[in-house]
Amino acid sequence: MINYKLKRTIIGQLPNGSDLLEELTQLVQKENIRCGRIHGIGATTHAVVAYYDQNIKKYNSMEFTSGMEILNLHGNVSIRDGKPFVHVHILLGDPQGKVFGGHLLSGTKLWACEVFIDEFEGEELVREQDEKTGLFLWKTGYLS
Ligand code: ZN
Repeated sequence: MINYKLKRTIIGQLPNGSDLLEELTQLVQKENIRCGRIHGIGATTHAVVAYYDQNIKKYNSMEFTSGMEILNLHGNVSIRDGKPFVHVHILLGDPQGKVFGGHLLSGTKLWACEVFIDEFEGEELVREQDEKTGLFLWKTGYLS
């Protein structure tokens, strides 16, 4: 099943000083959003993102310790270990407009963030560890 129907959209801002990934995770778990799409913009005071090294199958983290613009926050909500799980990537802009980004990790602290979370109805997308990539990927949902 690859067809999903939009059920509702939650729109709001996340608190100054909060941890972005933890705040999103708490929100989707509290609202029991099991299949969703996350969009957002805002700014961070400290950011921690990762790049997945395909050769060693490990995430390498990077930190940005001064204020950055969140130019784009985009990701999804699916199920891992029986619970709603947030997977988000983020694009960050520095004072010169240079862009950096990666896979969002805990430790990213917000200055401000406006988010839209779309909840969908349809078959749950359940994450399991994939041997080939080393990643926790959806076990269903292949489009070919
Ligand atoms: Zn990722």
